[in-house]
Amino acid sequence: MGIGMRPLVAGNWKMNGLSLSLKELEALKTALVSEPALAEVLICPPFTLLAQAHWSVKGAFALGGQDCHAAPSGAHTGDIAAEMLKDAGASHVIVGHSERRHNHGERDSDVAAKAQAAWRAGLTAIICIGETEHQRSAGHAHDICGSQIDGSVPARANPANTVVAYEPVWAIGTGKTATADDIVQMHAHIRQCLVGRLGDGARQMRILYGGSVKPDNAAEILNLAEVDGALVGGASIKSDDFLRIIRAV
Ligand code: PEP
Repeated sequence: MGIGMRPLVAGNWKMNGLSLSLKELEALKTALVSEPALAEVLICPPFTLLAQAHWSVKGAFALGGQDCHAAPSGAHTGDIAAEMLKDAGASHVIVGHSERRHNHGERDSDVAAKAQAAWRAGLTAIICIGETEHQRSAGHAHDICGSQIDGSVPARANPANTVVAYEPVWAIGTGKTATADDIVQMHAHIRQCLVGRLGDGARQMRILYGGSVKPDNAAEILNLAEVDGALVGGASIKSDDFLRIIRAV
């Protein structure tokens, strides 16, 4: 972790959560108010809960969207603009999650446009990259992540407006995690690519690991070199599990 860098533990609820789930956020708020976390904490609930969550958590932790459209407004039925997320109380937005890349055919250039939309609205972009199992077994994991960085991380990215999340696709929601060695090597590679592309300032850009982070493996993963936090899916929905991950920092 860079000097003075505060890790980020981010939860991605994906397409999960009804208004009843706000009680999980209440529980998280109570715990974090009584014992503040060393990490910065972020939850990305579904769009429908964002405004309500904003009212109920009252700044105890940050809130984000899971995707945004590149345009600020217009004829894009079903889409959400970054400005709308900001208006509803978000400070961050995830862009280029592998589920968006695979289920919605998003390309690197789409992801870069969404990151720029996030900045336009005053949000921090969490730009996701990661290789598939096939790409890893063919020995292409580093090349794939390098080219995703070139294509998805716009040149104006800096540590204040951007976080990069390395999420090997085969580790998302599968219970499989990359080995500690693989994570260390990949994060070092990502750091090198970011510095090569953006300059020395990118040494302070946070690189999160995501993919089946759970209470039991969080401490090991979060303590690895160049791991500046975690992006957590399944284990972020129950506040008890997510708190155990937050406390592992
Ligand atoms: C994710 O959706 O970004 C993720 C990492 O999911 P999970 O933790 O469930 O693997």
